[in-house]
Amino acid sequence: MAQASVYQQLRGHLATLRLHDAAEHLPAVLDSAVAEGLSVTAALERLLALEVDATEARRLAGRLRFASLPTPATLEDFDHDAAPGVDPSLLAELATCRYLESATNILLVGPPGVGKTHVAVGLARKAAEAGYRTYFTTAADLAARCHRAAIEGRWATTMRFYAGPTLLVIDELGYLPLPAEAASALFQVVSQRYLKTSIVITTNRGVGSWGEVLGDTTVAAAMLDRLLHRSVVLTLDGDSYRLRDHHARNDNLRRTTTGTNRAPLR
Ligand code: ADP
Ligand code: MG
Repeated sequence: MAQASVYQQLRGHLATLRLHDAAEHLPAVLDSAVAEGLSVTAALERLLALEVDATEARRLAGRLRFASLPTPATLEDFDHDAAPGVDPSLLAELATCRYLESATNILLVGPPGVGKTHVAVGLARKAAEAGYRTYFTTAADLAARCHRAAIEGRWATTMRFYAGPTLLVIDELGYLPLPAEAASALFQVVSQRYLKTSIVITTNRGVGSWGEVLGDTTVAAAMLDRLLHRSVVLTLDGDSYRLRDHHARNDNLRRTTTGTNRAPLR
């Protein structure tokens, strides 16, 4: 009887402390503690470890939700044979997230379809998994949001938002011409993160043409100065991965066609 009421009190404590996973697993853990002859310490550890695991899983899910990653891409499913220009050991080093500790930026440069966004998403996922606040956006979205913020008088709040995450990914710089004011928004985002937190930028334009992309060579130079000061530049080239199947189909077609052409000669 007394034991039953102690048990109820324990459940009550767990509920008050919002340790719901521990509460849910309490009967099973107590049973296994008796069955396995666990010490009180070992049983408590087992119970609380369940709660810790569940809390970490919830936090990770929250970080991934906040990160707003556009695809399920991971660094593990990046095919190195298809990307000979990328040093696998460099990518493995970046996957450790150590670059975040020194606020190093990463520039992914290359033509469309070579895996820039794939790598950026993979890096962002690693950062979120390692416990870092991470946010993925495109240059166009960032520009549009800053534009709205300026109109609605939320400029400072928006700048604080972009300063917040330990890793900010800015995808697709240079794909669309940016309005003039976007250059200064981008510059401010880069400046306020400079030497504090990392940016991963993907672009189809070499840094030489950023003046053109941003419509202002002075701002572009000042921005590149900060971005590149502590940075890793990865140049991805080669065939578009998107068009690979298409090319393979064409090759097959060509082979078949050549085959048919040859057949009558034999
Ligand atoms: P980019 O951003 O350079 O235009 P993406 O990263 O969007 O290219 O790549 C286009 C598609 O091809 C995506 O579905 C991506 O996952 C895939 N892809 C590109 N390169 C690779 C690679 N080396 N290994 C695996 N998938 C790749
Ligand atoms: Mg892309």
